[in-house]
Amino acid sequence: MKSIVIGSGFGGIAAALRLKAKNHSVTLIEKHPDLGGRARVFKKNGFTFDGGPTVITAPYLINELFELFNKKPEDYIKLTPLKIWYRFIFEDGTKFDYSGDESQMKYQIEKINKDDVKGYENLVKFTKKIFDKGFTELADTPFDKPLMMMKQLPALLKLKSYKSVYSLVSSYIKNEKLRRMLSMHPLLVGGNPFTTTSIYGLILYLEKKWGIHYSMGGTGHIINGLEKLMKEENIQIIKGHEVINIISSNNKIKGVKLDNQKKINANNVICNADPPAVYEKLLDEKKNTSLFRWKKKRMQYSMGLFVYYFGTKKTYDDVEHHTIKFGDKYKEHLDDIFDKKKLNKDISYYLHRPSATDSSMAPKGHDCFYVLVPVPNNQSGIDWSIEGDKIKNLVIDKMEKSLLPNLRENIVEDFYLTPDYFEKELNTKYGSGFSIQPKFTQSAYFRFHNKSEVCEGLYFVGAGTHPGAGVPGVLSSAKVLDKIL
Ligand SMILES: Cc1cc2nc3c(=O)[nH]c(=O)nc-3n(C[C@H](O)[C@H](O)[C@H](O)COP(=O)(O)OP(=O)(O)OC[C@H]3O[C@@H](n4cnc5c(N)ncnc54)[C@H](O)[C@@H]3O)c2cc1C
Repeated sequence: MKSIVIGSGFGGIAAALRLKAKNHSVTLIEKHPDLGGRARVFKKNGFTFDGGPTVITAPYLINELFELFNKKPEDYIKLTPLKIWYRFIFEDGTKFDYSGDESQMKYQIEKINKDDVKGYENLVKFTKKIFDKGFTELADTPFDKPLMMMKQLPALLKLKSYKSVYSLVSSYIKNEKLRRMLSMHPLLVGGNPFTTTSIYGLILYLEKKWGIHYSMGGTGHIINGLEKLMKEENIQIIKGHEVINIISSNNKIKGVKLDNQKKINANNVICNADPPAVYEKLLDEKKNTSLFRWKKKRMQYSMGLFVYYFGTKKTYDDVEHHTIKFGDKYKEHLDDIFDKKKLNKDISYYLHRPSATDSSMAPKGHDCFYVLVPVPNNQSGIDWSIEGDKIKNLVIDKMEKSLLPNLRENIVEDFYLTPDYFEKELNTKYGSGFSIQPKFTQSAYFRFHNKSEVCEGLYFVGAGTHPGAGVPGVLSSAKVLDKIL
């Protein structure tokens, strides 16, 4: 059986390895000269900037890929659990160190609102129920048949999946700061906490179950380890070439055509590339039935991301590894991003400081950072060549005020990425950061199917397909594939 994987994100690499373990002859094709997709690495003057994922959860899903070939993960990668998972900072200066230490969690909750301690305990209990169903049972279950979805509906309704994550959290927690903090998880997978189905409340429990980890050497070190494994297992890797056409005949996959006009035959094509872009640009549109065209058209896309990478000539030792800073008008800000598709100055942001844990990420005496600001995706029509520098200056001003004093004069290396990078370089529709949004009407059966309904031998893994974005999500999508191919 000959299989081609298009794209080398975590989902694509996992699919290639899982199919190889089933004795397929596998070729992985990546447009860029380096692997990883959103998890690519940018190295500049001694700084190592992980492009995307930094919070590693459910590490067993990564370890399994090595174990498929009886290899020891620790010979390839090194994951370290973090003590403080996120430091939350609110506009009035209140800080909360979020971790797996339940007594510390309750102590800090009590300081903000005594009455919410019991609610927090009950919320965690409820998210365990969601986790047991939504992750343990369903994350790697194929949802390509409507019957499967019908069977799950009663249980999903019992778990209040019709509610948003924010509304679920608010039914247990009274204080607004705690509500924001405990409902922020959808933002990690491209959703608005005010509209994302409460099923994604499972992330709160998933973090507690296995902890939050950091990959020493950066997330790129995991990609390097997986690339080494793929080479050892004779997976053919073609870098620096884009697939421009998926070839089929009589609705059956025949292979792919590359940008150098070379054709490669295969029985199966597994797309790790963003599904809407694949259906629109790589396949003959005529294959899309009118029902499928409608499904594709009604999809709502995740927010865009403005990511500013910078290195400083001094260290900011009191800044945690992961910091989330909330703006003042949180809901209004999210409405602007997701619905009105406009920029807002009252930003919330996530600051990554890997050099807090790993000195190899920056030259001696220096610090390495990225700051991520959720912004509208490219349905906004924003001209990033004008707005990019404005957001960069806005976020530097904000960080100087509340976290990194005198930042501007200490920056020695910097660059940023906007939704244009996601659209043009990573081939993602509208430059969304996480493909389609994680809404109930776009989850499981309603998401892009892992086994395509329009062509035999065509499959999907990665953020736009079931179960969804985030490293655990896309690694689970490759496990779904394992069951259907
Ligand atoms: C800034 C940022 C921070 C994040 N932080 C976290 C985090 O802390 N924790 C977490 O779990 N998740 C995080 N995520 C989400 C997570 O990174 C993604 O959901 C996940 O990595 C996506 O993987 P994927 O398998 O869908 O493939 P992608 O990473 O999207 O890769 C797809 C690949 O396909 C290639 N490609 C596309 N079209 C073609 C073509 N025609 N021919 C050849 N190649 C093609 C692209 O070049 C790309 O390499 C973050 C994402 C971003 C952007």
